[in-house]
Amino acid sequence: MFDRLSSLVVALTLVAVATIFAALADGDALTIVLLAAAGTAAAALVYSALPGAAPADHRADAAPPAPVPPVSLLRHPDFALWADQEKEPLLGCDGNIVTLANDAAVRLLGRHIVGADVRTAIRHPAATEWLAGIDAPATLEPLNLVDFPRPGQRWTMRIAALSGGQKILFLSDRSAIDAADRMRSDFVANASHELRTPLAAILGYVETLQDMNGEADSATRHRFLSIIDREARRMQQLVIDLLSISRVEADRFRRPTASVDLAAIARATIAQLKDSENPRARDIVVAFDDSPMPMLGDEAQLGQLAHNIIFNAMKYGRPDTPVTVELHRDGRRARLAVRDEGEGIAPDHLPRLTERFYRVDEARSRSVGGTGLGLAIVKHISERHQGQLDIESEVGKGTRVSVTFPLAG
Ligand code: ADP
Repeated sequence: MFDRLSSLVVALTLVAVATIFAALADGDALTIVLLAAAGTAAAALVYSALPGAAPADHRADAAPPAPVPPVSLLRHPDFALWADQEKEPLLGCDGNIVTLANDAAVRLLGRHIVGADVRTAIRHPAATEWLAGIDAPATLEPLNLVDFPRPGQRWTMRIAALSGGQKILFLSDRSAIDAADRMRSDFVANASHELRTPLAAILGYVETLQDMNGEADSATRHRFLSIIDREARRMQQLVIDLLSISRVEADRFRRPTASVDLAAIARATIAQLKDSENPRARDIVVAFDDSPMPMLGDEAQLGQLAHNIIFNAMKYGRPDTPVTVELHRDGRRARLAVRDEGEGIAPDHLPRLTERFYRVDEARSRSVGGTGLGLAIVKHISERHQGQLDIESEVGKGTRVSVTFPLAG
């Protein structure tokens, strides 16, 4: 009825009451003291003899805890939060039903996929087959989805199996990687083709000269040797440009740190071109003053950029027309521009001019010693220097190529 502590309190109260009554009944002091001591001792004995009260939280006597229902990863609110922060599409599925799609998946496949069958959400023959055999461990290997969701694109799909038939599907876009791989192999194929053409000419003429066994007259020999010389120089220029483009590409994430003067670089390049034996050298017009244009840059690369755009104007402009080089300050930027009076470039070619080996007129480019790499090199150098390349052209009138760079300070 009483717990242990309450029993002690009751016993001590009774002892106290008995002691008071004894005192009121004029008992002698010794009797009162003995009565109080005996009562207290008896109460202490009773207290110690009673079974100890169980602590409130004693687990042995507590009811067994209710079983905790298993936590579903897909239904956890933090899961959706995390999933939306993932850049690549991700689907949560309960059996074959899509129960969750992160923002990237909604953007790729549409909002309607939530609640739909996953085989409808990812409409691809390979995916349908793969998803049908989803319980087999072998299906955990990533799957290639070619031409998904649009022709020419490639994605991979990966699965993580959870308990209770739930799973997470991860989609990953491989299109850009594929495009880069294709560009690299196209580049190697194009470079090999470009090198093979002059090489075949050189070998052909050397062989002919050998077959003639010294019987070729001097005019023929001279003609063949000059073709060999021209083709060898073309190969040499191609190798120089190939090395340049690979060096510029390797440097593309390294910001230039040297302080240079763009005006001095442009003047040095012009002087070099004017000194050359090219008949167009005398057509170069310098249309800027001596004001310095300080910027952070790679002197050799900026010289090459200036050379390529001025030399193109010399190559593709009409003979005896000016090749005008301008350099202007435009607020905190400097604009280097080269104008020519040539046949110009039709608008549909303009976006492709900076592709490697792209030429508007291949025969024309070859006849003027072009490699098809000049503007690709210009574009890379410009990007490394945070520059902006613009090409404006009017068919029949001429072309203006300009690059704008941020000035230092
Ligand atoms: P290329 O070595 O053939 O000159 P570029 O990469 O320098 O290669 O230029 C690519 C193509 O762009 C050229 O083949 C040419 O058709 C065209 N092009 C470049 N600059 C000019 C220009 N100033 N006027 C007309 N066409 C140009």
